[in-house]
Amino acid sequence: MKKIIFLALTSTLLFATPKTSVILMIGDGMGPAYTTAFRYYSEKNSTVFDSMLMGMNSTYSQNSVITDSAAAATALASGVKTKNGFIGRTDKNSTKVQTVLEFAKENGYLTAIAVTSTLTHATPAAFLSTRGLHRNKEADIAKDFFIKNKKGLLKFDFLIGGGEKYFSEGYNDFNATAKKYGVSLYRDGYNIEKIDQYPFIAFTAYDYPKFAIDEEVNNKYRVTKMTKKSLELLNNKTFFLMIEGSQIDWCGHMNDIGCAMAEMDDFARSVEIAKTYVKEHPNTLLIVTADHSTGGLAIGKKIKKDDKTVTEEQRSKSYIWYPNIIKQIKASSILIAKKLRASDDINTTFKKYTSLALNQDEYQKIQDVLNKKNKKIRQIINDIINLHSNTGWTTHGHTAVDVETFAYGKESEKFKGFMDNTDIAKNIFKILSKK
Ligand code: MG
Ligand code: ZN
Repeated sequence: MKKIIFLALTSTLLFATPKTSVILMIGDGMGPAYTTAFRYYSEKNSTVFDSMLMGMNSTYSQNSVITDSAAAATALASGVKTKNGFIGRTDKNSTKVQTVLEFAKENGYLTAIAVTSTLTHATPAAFLSTRGLHRNKEADIAKDFFIKNKKGLLKFDFLIGGGEKYFSEGYNDFNATAKKYGVSLYRDGYNIEKIDQYPFIAFTAYDYPKFAIDEEVNNKYRVTKMTKKSLELLNNKTFFLMIEGSQIDWCGHMNDIGCAMAEMDDFARSVEIAKTYVKEHPNTLLIVTADHSTGGLAIGKKIKKDDKTVTEEQRSKSYIWYPNIIKQIKASSILIAKKLRASDDINTTFKKYTSLALNQDEYQKIQDVLNKKNKKIRQIINDIINLHSNTGWTTHGHTAVDVETFAYGKESEKFKGFMDNTDIAKNIFKILSKK
């Protein structure tokens, strides 16, 4: 009898499949036009996204075909639809939702998040806050980060991102709270290389982190840095890791293509690093998707008859997009606007940051808004860049187009074909449940 029990025990130990680690990467606002634009921008025949394409997912929220990041993140984190603006709740207020991160932690996984927004911003918040708060209540959301689970554990092992401000506002003495829970705090931007222990929170900025395009040379690939560090800390462990390229969306809201492509460049490199990790660790699944698309980005825009910025030859080709012009852009439209306001030479300043020579009409438009101290200067800058690069946009908000689902590694075939964004979370729950 004893022998049989012993045999049964060893065979379970020998044949039990190890748990699957999950890396979920969200490109906020990264609709299909962004991944296509990035392929031409990067001058590659195929990108890391192309190599992992599995299907599409619908993103509609409970109250609109066009979702916001709060409802979309709730769908991706918990598998439920909610109203735009809200995180961590269903249509029925009384129903408590659970997130894949919470579930992972309760089942013995390590859990971590790295983002380029504030840590309390809609997307990361939806993985840690389940009181049904409005996304704008960032200080209240911060309070949910230190609620212990049933096992008396913190929900997270480490967090990297901006927004210390909201933790300072949310807690009487945040340093003391962190100390009480044994969570180390770092406040040295992206200088995270030396961190070798968790739990911790590494604040990359007091408020909002900078755009990749506006960062100093060493920090242009900051999602990449955070991804590398996270995987180094989690190496060979069983974990759930969520990484967000948060600012693709923000560039899209401004209709700033230079800004958007720099964010895509950083995010794509991060995905490559994660994919390499999965290749070397077969018990890992990598899922990449967007929460929605932003700006109605179009790779192409009809050239107006009176547009003197294009040659007759270019006009005769009629269908054109100029990624080379976008590659020359060296700052976001916010920073270019700031530089133009401080400059007494519009032409030189504009050329310095865009490599574009302004024609008389464009010069006059900028001069006019500078005189009026009008905030629209940013839009005029983007109009000029979009016209020269032939980039189109339909909105400063989001659109309802389906987004791509990319997956690689163990169980990646579960993400094939068309699904809803809530199915992504439902699949993750199933995968995390397997012993
Ligand atoms: Mg986001
Ligand atoms: Zn947005």
